[in-house]
Parts: sequence; structure tokens; C-alpha cells
Amino acid sequence: MEKLPLSRTVESVEQSTPSVALKSSERGSPAAAKTEQLAAINERVCACVKCPNLASSRTQTVFGVGNPDAEVMFVGEAPGADEDAQGEPFVGRAGQLLTKIIKAMGFAREEVYIANILKCRPDTPGSKFGNRPPTPSEMQTCRPYLMEQIDIIQPKVIVALGATAVEGLLGNRAPMHQMRGRWDSFNGTPLMVTYHPAYLLRNQSPSEKRKVWEDMMQVLERLEKPISEKQRNYFL
Ligand code: URA
Repeated sequence: MEKLPLSRTVESVEQSTPSVALKSSERGSPAAAKTEQLAAINERVCACVKCPNLASSRTQTVFGVGNPDAEVMFVGEAPGADEDAQGEPFVGRAGQLLTKIIKAMGFAREEVYIANILKCRPDTPGSKFGNRPPTPSEMQTCRPYLMEQIDIIQPKVIVALGATAVEGLLGNRAPMHQMRGRWDSFNGTPLMVTYHPAYLLRNQSPSEKRKVWEDMMQVLERLEKPISEKQRNYFL
């Protein structure tokens, strides 16, 4: 059966946006204003059919999740099968590893913000399985939504997870071993490039995991967070 994204109700939009639930103590706060602004973008994202192939193949759009007032924002590539099914970014195996990294940094997953370059799962015509990277044209089409999210959240640091996230955010294409661990700038916001957690799942070498952890310690330093001895010696 063909899925009709435009037919989604406001109720279903709210259910699929865990980041827009407002606690009573938050009403009227800057975070509440940001939550409302993000919800308005999410409504447009839910109805988006700019990439007809993705709009007709997706189960749902995957907007972003977390604290609308987050200090740090993680940006990945695009939803995979698990994210497409659940409507939340980074909930599959790579997501579990990202959550572990976030917790090792001393944050709860809900304290940071997590989003992707693409809000739809890249389609794989003829196959229900497998993933493909977003095309440059898909990234260009979807990028304005992410720009709006960043403008509203105004994180102190952005972490770009993997080469596709770097390409989507900065337009740079270079080998990851050259780009990771270095500070860049996204419209004036410090941006740290690191490996995508899926890369660490494919490459279990402790030295690659340690590199990601060192990149995250740079993020903590930039945020002026204390780093414990245990954290300094940590290996993912
Ligand atoms: N990989 C990504 O880049 N994003 C997700 O949301 C999940 C896996």
C-alpha cells in the first residue's frame, strides 16, 4: 500500500516528535519557545514531498530528538530502517553506540540534540533491506530543515558524525582520517568532525574507538566541562 505522508494528522506529528513534549515547568521559558518553533518545522517536514521517491518509500519522517536548548548537537547522515520504523534518529545499533558515547561524556541522551542531514530514509528500490548514502541532490533539498533546527537550537558545539554529515553541513569531501579530530566552523558555531558510530561497529579496533573518544574529550573541553581521570582513561 502506498504511504501518503500528507495524510498524517497533527496528532501523529506530535507523537513522532518526542522533543516537543513540554513539561509544565518549561512553559514560557526560552526552551518552550524553541520547542514550539521546532514543532512548526517538524510539521513541514512531515508533509514534505520534495523528494518524491523518499516521500513515497518512507514510513515516516525522522525530524530530530532531544533538548531544544542543547549545548551540543550531534548530526548524522540519514535514518536507517530502525529510525524509519520508530520516527527517532539513532535508535538502531549505531544509535545505541552513540547513546553510550553521549553517556560517557556525562550527558543524558535527552540533554543533547540529535538530528540527521536527511529526514527520510534513503530508498533502496527493489530491496527492503540495506542502506544507501543520501545523494548530493537529496542532501541539498533537505539541508534547509537542518539549518533551521541549528538556528533555533543554537548549540555551543556541533558534532558531525561521518563524512556524509560533513559534506551535508560544510560541503567538504575528504577522507575521514584527515578531517576527524579537528575543529571546523559551521556559520560561526564550532564543529567537531568524528567517525560515524556505524564505522566503529564495522571496525572494532580499539585505536579507532579511542580516536572518537579523544574527539569527544575535545568537545567537553570546548564546553568547559570537567573531565574526570576515569573519563581521560576511557576506551569506548
Ligand atoms: N545513522 C545515521 O546517520 N542516522 C541515524 O539516525 C541512524 C543511523
